[in-house]
Amino acid sequence: MSDRRFMLYDTMSKSMRELVPQEPGHLKFYSCGPTVYSYAHIGNFRTFLTADLVVRTAEALGWQVSYVSNITDVGHLTEDSLADAEGEDKMARALQSKEGERFANVWDLADHYADAFVEDWRRLNLRDPSVRPKATQHMREQIVAVQELIAKGHAYETPTGVYFNVASFADYGKLSGNRDQDDLMRAVRDVVQDDNKRHPADFALWKKDEKHLMQWFSPWGWGFPGWHIECSVMAMRYLGETLDLHAGGEDLRFPHHECEIAQSEALTGKPFSKLWIHTRFLQVEGEKMAKSKGNFFTVRDLVEGKNADPLALRYALISVPYGKPYNFTMQTLRDASSNVERFRLCEEKVAAALSATRPGDDAIGPELDALYDEALAAMLNDLNTSVALAKALEGTRVILREAELSGACADSAQRFLDRINALLGIVRHESDAPASNSPKVDEARIEALLAERAAAKAGKDFARADGIRDQLAAEGIELRDSPEGTTWRLKGVV
Ligand code: AMP
Ligand code: ZN
Repeated sequence: MSDRRFMLYDTMSKSMRELVPQEPGHLKFYSCGPTVYSYAHIGNFRTFLTADLVVRTAEALGWQVSYVSNITDVGHLTEDSLADAEGEDKMARALQSKEGERFANVWDLADHYADAFVEDWRRLNLRDPSVRPKATQHMREQIVAVQELIAKGHAYETPTGVYFNVASFADYGKLSGNRDQDDLMRAVRDVVQDDNKRHPADFALWKKDEKHLMQWFSPWGWGFPGWHIECSVMAMRYLGETLDLHAGGEDLRFPHHECEIAQSEALTGKPFSKLWIHTRFLQVEGEKMAKSKGNFFTVRDLVEGKNADPLALRYALISVPYGKPYNFTMQTLRDASSNVERFRLCEEKVAAALSATRPGDDAIGPELDALYDEALAAMLNDLNTSVALAKALEGTRVILREAELSGACADSAQRFLDRINALLGIVRHESDAPASNSPKVDEARIEALLAERAAAKAGKDFARADGIRDQLAAEGIELRDSPEGTTWRLKGVV
C-alpha cells in the first residue's frame, strides 16, 4: 500500500491533519472515559469505539500505542455540561435515586458501575487501554496541580473553592470557538453564578464542601476536585506534557476539553495535544436518547434484554463514520447481525478447510490482500468505517464464493479474517471475557443430543430428530447440517 498516512479531522484546526506521533512509531493517546454513576449507554460506546478504532488502526501501521482512558468516579456535577461546575455531584445524586438504594455508599456505587463498564467494554470487544486510571486514585496529583496553578497566577481561592482564572490564559476558547466575552457569556448562561468568581466563565478546580459524600483534605480544607482537572493530570502523568491525540464525544469540546487545555497549557507552557477528535452524538430512532422516550439503551439492555449478539452491536455502532450523524435503529442492529454471521460462516469454512488441507493454488489470496489494503486505507482516511466494513464484507463474499477452499486458499482466508479482526474487531472476540449474552452451555450434553439425532435420522425417526432440533433451538442453540455432519452454534439474533 502506497499512502500510509493516518489522516484525522482535527477539531482544533477544523481540518484534516496527519496524525504524526512525536516519537516515531509510538502513539500517545488519551480518550475521556465515562462517569460511573449508571450503566453506559450505546451512545457512550459510539465514542469509546472511535478511540478503539484509532488504536487498532495505529497498530495496523505497526505503531506502539500508549492508550489512556480514565474512569471519572468523582467530581462530575449535573451542570458541568453547561459550563462551570454547579449542581449536584452525579454520583451522590445517583445514590439517592431508586437504583441507588442497593448500594451501601457512593464508593460502592462507583465500584459497581466501573466494573459493569469494563464488562461492557470487553463484551463489545474494545481493546483494553494501557492504563485505565481512576480520578479518586489520583487525588494527590490533582491537589498539587491546583496549588501550582495558584502559584503561577492562573487560579484563585474563594470562600467556595478554587477557580481557574480564564482571563489569565489568552488561548481560552481556541478549541470551542468561545473566545470573546459574548461567546463565553452565551456558553455559561443559565448557570447558577458564584458571586465570588472574578468572571462567570471561571471554572472550578476545587470545591470546598465538608458535607460532600466523597471528600479529601486539601490546603483549602475538605472538599473534592472539579471534573476537568483529573483528565489534565492523568493524561500528563501517563503520557507526558504533549499528547499526540486526544478524543471524546462532541459535547466535551466545551467546557471539558477547553478547560483541560487551559489547565494543562497554563501548567506546562506547551501544547496539550497535537490533534483532537470528537465523535458525533448517536441518536436512536431519530431522536436524542432519553429514558422518557423509550429509546434509551444501555449495552446490557440490548445484549441481555434483547439477546443481541455483542459483536453485532459493535458492528452496528461502528457502521457509520464517527464524524457523521448517526441514527441507530433496531433494523441497523438486525442488518449488523446478518453481516457478523457471514464472518462466522467464513471462520467455520476456513477452519474446516485448514484441517482438510486440500491441494490446489491460492486462487483468492491476492484479491483478499487487496481488499484488506483497501479497508486499511479507508480507516487511515479519518476512520471511514463504512467503506472499511464494505471491503471486509466483500472479502467474505470471496471466501464463501469458493465451493471448496484449498489449503493455500484457507491460509489466505485465515490471514484476511485475522487482519480484519485486528483492524475492526468484528469477526471474533479477542479478550477472554465471555460474550455475556451466551447462555450457559453444556457442550457434552449438546454433543450427546447431536449423536442421538444422527442415530434417529439414520433410523428414519424424523420426528425425534426434529424434536431434538426444536429443543435445542428453544435453548438458543442453532443446528447446521452439511455433508460433513451437523454443527451447532449460539444464536445471536435480536
Ligand atoms: P459521560 O459518562 O457522560 O462522561 O460520557 C462518556 C462519553 O460518552 C463522553 O465522551 C461523551 O461525550 C460521550 N457521549 C455521551 N452521549 C453520547 C451520545 N449520544 N453519542 C455519542 N457519544 C456520547
Ligand atoms: Zn476528560
